[in-house]
Amino acid sequence: VIEIRNLHKSYGNLEVLKGVDMVAPKGHVVSLIGSSGSGKSTLLRCANLLEDSQDGEILFEGEAVRWRGEGLARQPADKAQVIRIRTNLSMVFQQFNLWSHMTILQNVMEAPVTVLGRPRAEVEEAARRYLAKVGIGDKCDAYPAQLSGGQQQRAAIARALCMEPRALLFDEPTSALDPELEQEVVRVIKALAEEGRTMLLVTHDMRMAADVSDHVIFLHQGRIEEEGPPDRLFGAPQTDRLRQFLSATA
Ligand code: ATP
Ligand code: MG
Repeated sequence: VIEIRNLHKSYGNLEVLKGVDMVAPKGHVVSLIGSSGSGKSTLLRCANLLEDSQDGEILFEGEAVRWRGEGLARQPADKAQVIRIRTNLSMVFQQFNLWSHMTILQNVMEAPVTVLGRPRAEVEEAARRYLAKVGIGDKCDAYPAQLSGGQQQRAAIARALCMEPRALLFDEPTSALDPELEQEVVRVIKALAEEGRTMLLVTHDMRMAADVSDHVIFLHQGRIEEEGPPDRLFGAPQTDRLRQFLSATA
């Protein structure tokens, strides 16, 4: 679904991604791991065009993003293409970013109704179904502040699902949560992985990465240092850097 080739991204003089190649095939879960500052969030944000990149290709379902300009001036050339790609890659953030003045149901319904223009009645039915799926079907009329962190994050996942995206992107979805609330979100992510959803997951939770991933990528200073199936990456790391990283996070 998502393919990235030789991606370079700088903030001013700081080169954050130094030629990254990766693929998240349909139905696969790809996890990104690596130290703080290695470029994981940046790669995720470049993938759904929330950030511009200076060189390399991004393909969505085989269709290459069209660019104009070069280097720091490079931008997507086609607004409609950007919107189409972004609405098909729903992102779930570390901070759930729910609107505090809207109920949980309204939060989940908002984008499908206003961005996609889908009929309210149809969206409401889907929203209730997704909230039930993530285990908070009884919280439709509550406001975000009335929910626990784990419940709020599950509402954010239901909101992403309600866009009916082709892939889900998660940026540290459990790192703002207390350990006991973390598990309820991990269970939801596992269930989505078992359904065969395409996901790109940035996480510091090595157990979750090992459990849900088909492929794990270890980023180090803006480059892929090592990658492979989770049992090999975690069971038999090949590089000193990955061994060091894993022993530091264990
Ligand atoms: P973490 O595990 O802490 O979330 P990360 O791997 O997600 O780290 P990024 O957020 O991608 O790392 O950041 C990579 C580098 O880019 C860091 O050196 C960071 O300081 C820098 N950076 C990120 N966003 C910006 C920005 N908007 N402007 C300038 N520099 C940035
Ligand atoms: Mg990050």
